[in-house]
Amino acid sequence: MNEKHVSYRKCEFNPPERLIISIKSAGTMKLIIFGPPGSGKGTYSSGLKAKFGLEKISTGDIFREEIKKSTGLGKRIENYLLEGKLVPDDIVIEVVALKLKSSTNYILDGYPRTMGQAQALDEIAKIDSIIDINVHEDILLEKITARRICSNPKCDGNYNIADIHRVVGGMEYILPPLLPKDDMKCDKCGSPLIQREDDKPEVIKDRLRVYHKQSKPVIEYYRGKGNVPFIEVWMNRAPEEIVDEIATKLMKIINRE
Ligand SMILES: [Zn+2]
Repeated sequence: MNEKHVSYRKCEFNPPERLIISIKSAGTMKLIIFGPPGSGKGTYSSGLKAKFGLEKISTGDIFREEIKKSTGLGKRIENYLLEGKLVPDDIVIEVVALKLKSSTNYILDGYPRTMGQAQALDEIAKIDSIIDINVHEDILLEKITARRICSNPKCDGNYNIADIHRVVGGMEYILPPLLPKDDMKCDKCGSPLIQREDDKPEVIKDRLRVYHKQSKPVIEYYRGKGNVPFIEVWMNRAPEEIVDEIATKLMKIINRE
């Protein structure tokens, strides 16, 4: 197989039965994952979900669920979203609290986003570990702006043309591209590939600024508490390897307790 076709974004997590680590032996597991947009948080969460049998909880998913159920809360959320407004903290806190009531093993993705949310979470859950994804901004920008999607709206083909292999600030990055077989045409349907508007540098830089402004005080809050172990990870290799690294570090934390 051509090295160039090594998957970067798409990866399958179907570990054989024996590799799925039993939560029964590990007790309950409550995790938070932090990382800038484009750092692969969603992919790593899915990998950890498969490995540990965790529920992946994101506020976006909960919002969609509530809206679908047409609850009173769902209608209020829908109104905010339709008006293009941020859903206020008290509502976010309420829906997440409801969701967490019925969950014992989970990974929170995109929550808590504010100090209010973090403090509310303290009241209802004891977090076992926080996963913090780091990446140099140059690398992140290069990788996101290299994303290409299929121009056919019915197709979900996605690719990445960046082939990154260099050292930045002492960190070695090996991020292979995910190229189509035929130059700039989708493998699945043959349509030309395009770049999403959201993946242009100006848009990404803005989203990164917002992320850092919002998440910094929250991450510092948890560090200051000192009683939640942090798992520091760099987005410097293919997602499967990052998931393995997180899983190994997580098992060490669990076994120590
Ligand atoms: Zn396609």
